[in-house]
Order: sequence, then structure tokens, then C-alpha cells
Amino acid sequence: MSELIESPYPNGCRGAVSLTFDDGLDCHLDIAVPALNDRGLPSTFYVVAREMTAGADDWKDRAAKWKEVVRQGHEIGNHSVSHI
Ligand SMILES: [Zn+2]
Repeated sequence: MSELIESPYPNGCRGAVSLTFDDGLDCHLDIAVPALNDRGLPSTFYVVAREMTAGADDWKDRAAKWKEVVRQGHEIGNHSVSHI
């Protein structure tokens, strides 16, 4: 007979999946985020600051887009400055 163990997950779920995306690509902003939002799946995006940067102003533009992703319920992680 198996022993019943209380689930650490909400609503009686027996497990969890963590969705993560690497490198902060344009397709994450343009395709993944809208698709995840449509399905109610908050995820984590690991962003590389320097690779996203064509110039200082570009970084500021990109940062605003990632801040919007956070506002939508996703999480941003650091994937180093240079990805080297
Ligand atoms: Zn990477």
C-alpha cells in the first residue's frame, strides 16, 4: 500500500514544469511571449545584456520590452553580460 504524501504544489497538483528560454532572442519577444500569454503560462527568460545591444540606445529600447514582459507575469534572469 502506497503512503499518501501531501503535495507541495497548489490545487493538489502532483508536479510542476518550469519553462525557461535562453538568450533573450527577438523571437522570444515576438512569438514565445504572446503564445505563452495566450495559454496562461508564465515563464522565465534568461537575457544576455550585451548580445542584445547594437548600441546604448538599443539596449534601452530592449530593456523596456523586457520590463513589459515582466509586467505580464513572466520572470527575467541574468544570462551574463556577454554570453562568452
Ligand atoms: Zn545561452
